[in-house]
Amino acid sequence: TEAQLRHAQKMEAIGRLTGGIAHDFNNILTVVNGNSEMLLRRTLPDDPRRTAIEDILHAGERAANLTRQLLAFTRQQVLHPESLDLGENLAKIGSMLRTLVGDHIELTFDLPDGVSRVWADAGQIQQILFNLAVNSRDAMPQGGTLSVEIADATLGPGDTGRIVGVRPGEYVVMRVRDTGVGMDAAVLAQVFEPYFTTKPVGKGTGLGLSTVFGIVQQSGGQIEVLSAPGQGTTVEVYLPVPHEREGTATAPYARRVTTQL
Ligand code: ADP
Repeated sequence: TEAQLRHAQKMEAIGRLTGGIAHDFNNILTVVNGNSEMLLRRTLPDDPRRTAIEDILHAGERAANLTRQLLAFTRQQVLHPESLDLGENLAKIGSMLRTLVGDHIELTFDLPDGVSRVWADAGQIQQILFNLAVNSRDAMPQGGTLSVEIADATLGPGDTGRIVGVRPGEYVVMRVRDTGVGMDAAVLAQVFEPYFTTKPVGKGTGLGLSTVFGIVQQSGGQIEVLSAPGQGTTVEVYLPVPHEREGTATAPYARRVTTQL
C-alpha cells in the first residue's frame, strides 16, 4: 500500500543518515569509555573523583547502547540467526531486566521447557525484550506487573495472507504484558514510527519499537501490540521455528498490527 511505501522510504532515508553518524559516534565512544574505564581502575575506592568517573562511564554506556540500537535499526548490523532455545536465551537477561525495571515492578517469567526452538539472532532477541521492558517500566511509574511468557503458536493463512513474505506456519510467540497506563488509538497508530515518542526529551528516542519491528522483520516474524488506556499493554512477537526459515531469505515485509482493546 501507499502507507507502507512511504514508511519504507522514510526508513531508508533515516537509515542512510543515522547509520553513518552512529558508526562514527561509536568510534568516538570507544575512546571515551575505554579511558574512563582505565581511570576507574586506577582510582582508589575512597577517591572523591570516583563518582564523577562513574557518571562519565554510565553516560558513555547509555550512549553506546543508543548507537547499538541505531545500527540495528539501520540494519548495518549483521544478523546471525541460528536455531535457539528461546526460553533459555531470554532467561539469560532475567537478572538484568530485574535491575532495569526496579523494585516497584513485579517481574514474572513463564518460560516452559518443551517449547519449540526458533530461528533467530540470540542478541537481537534479547534486544527486543530489553526494549519492550523499558517501555513497560516507563508505563508503570507507580508499579505494576511485567510478565514474559513464551508458547508454541500457529499463524493461519488468514493471519498472514495479505502480507508478502510472512508465511503461514509454525511459530513461537513471546508475549510481554504490562499493567501500565496503556495507549489510546492515536498513540497506538504511531508506535512503530521511527522517532515517535510521547516521552520527555532525553528519556525517549522513539526508536524502541521501530528497532523491535526491524528485528522482527529480519527474522521473518510478526508483531502485534494490543493496548487501551488503563488496560495495560501486551506485545506479541511471533518468531518462526527453524525448519520454516532456515536457509530462506529474509521476509521483505512482516506484519505489524496494533489492536485497540
Ligand atoms: P520510546 O520508548 O523511546 O518513546 P518506542 O518506539 O519504544 O520509543 O515507543 C513509542 C511510544 O509508544 C512511547 O513513547 C509510548 O508513548 C508508547 N508505548 C510503547 N510501549 C508502551 C507501553 N508498554 N505502554 C504504554 N505506552 C507505550
